[in-house]
Amino acid sequence: MKDQPSMHRKTRIAIAGAGIGGLTAALALMQRGFQVDVYEQARVFGEVGAGIQLSANGTRCLFSLGLQQDVLRSASQPSAKEIRHWSSGDTWRLFDLGAESVERYGAPFLMMHRADLHAVLVQHIQAIRPEALHLGERLTGWVQEHQGVELTFENGPVRQADVLIGADGVHSRVRELLHGHDDPQYTGCMAWRGVIQARDLPEHLRRPVGTNWVGPGAHVITYPLRNGELMNFVGIVERAAWQKESWTEQGTVEECRADFAGWHADVLSMVERLDRPFKWALMGRTPLPVWGKGSVTLLGDACHPTLPFLAQGAMMAIEDGVVLARCLDSCPDDPATALQRYEHLRHERTTAIVLKSAENTRRFHNPALASAEGAQKYIETEWAPDKVRARYDWLFSYDALSVDAGAQIAAEPA
Ligand code: FAD
Repeated sequence: MKDQPSMHRKTRIAIAGAGIGGLTAALALMQRGFQVDVYEQARVFGEVGAGIQLSANGTRCLFSLGLQQDVLRSASQPSAKEIRHWSSGDTWRLFDLGAESVERYGAPFLMMHRADLHAVLVQHIQAIRPEALHLGERLTGWVQEHQGVELTFENGPVRQADVLIGADGVHSRVRELLHGHDDPQYTGCMAWRGVIQARDLPEHLRRPVGTNWVGPGAHVITYPLRNGELMNFVGIVERAAWQKESWTEQGTVEECRADFAGWHADVLSMVERLDRPFKWALMGRTPLPVWGKGSVTLLGDACHPTLPFLAQGAMMAIEDGVVLARCLDSCPDDPATALQRYEHLRHERTTAIVLKSAENTRRFHNPALASAEGAQKYIETEWAPDKVRARYDWLFSYDALSVDAGAQIAAEPA
């Protein structure tokens, strides 16, 4: 159920970072009457040219913000998720999606181009207040004062706000100033990311299903985007070290092909058709014991970056945005208490997701997957329906709209 917005709101909220997390928080807050300004370091809006899986816990939030029609217009709604063996191509059903997701979780499982989701969020924010979004404004510092927070920018004027939300991603400046410098760690896995024109693929690879190809030391995720017009490709490979300073760079089809040498012809046929493959170092951090302080908090990858092996990083950022807005809405005159409630409500779940995503490395890359015979037994055990339910139900059934945003937090023992 949608919360009722309060009509008189003076609290000024500054958000650093216009990624999916920052924009969702901005929209949820603006719909509740808050005065929001989002500061983004990039000079033009954009998202990486790749897909995103939106499970029911995320689509439930997006739909509650009034985005249903626009999201459905450009998303793909798959009928199922499958597992396939890296060399034999043997196929197992992981779970049904489509109508079953709606029936079971009350919201669909969708797959979408990131740029499309980003554009929908921008459009809805600008429909409320176009000047809320500030491009080319890199936050460099902030100080908490009695009356709120003073913000400084690389090339801009000093600004004031009552609340600062650091939605500035894995290399967060807001986090650094809260908790000290601490470089994110390379996780030992890198990702190949790219999209393929579906019309170039053989028909059996254009089916509306998401596929997890699993193999020893690597896995590949593919799924349709834009009503099946594009196919998303993510290939995760274990690599001892990331040599370059930058954590994302353009690669070549030849390099990607070499990383998947010996894999099934269907995987290689997708690699051949990749449009501009990119390489990403997957970065992580040990979950933070505490996120925010006073009138400053964090959300999304800024506080809980994760391996994408449960496809929940952006879903957590979306849930954070909605819960944060609800907490501030239920306690508008005392933002510090509202931010504490938000952190209290979100900390345990997000920490569990980060840890369980890392656990999936062992499952997706298990040595037992090397041979087709070993794989059969391993997959039938590890992906048995009861185990799949235990691993995914708690993720997809979470309802950011009904967690108790007004609850009192028990006082710490003295
Ligand atoms: P970001 O998207 O990183 O946004 C941060 C923004 O802050 C950026 O726009 C940046 O320019 C800006 N910024 C940074 N510093 C400053 C500053 N000082 N001042 C102003 N602006 C600043 N998640 C899913 O839910 N489903 C998936 O299917 C999925 N697949 C994935 C596949 C791969 C290969 C990877 C790597 C990740 C995947 N994720 C997935 C995770 C997801 O991409 C991230 O968790 C999500 O994008 C985080 O969003 P965010 O808004 O917190 O941060």
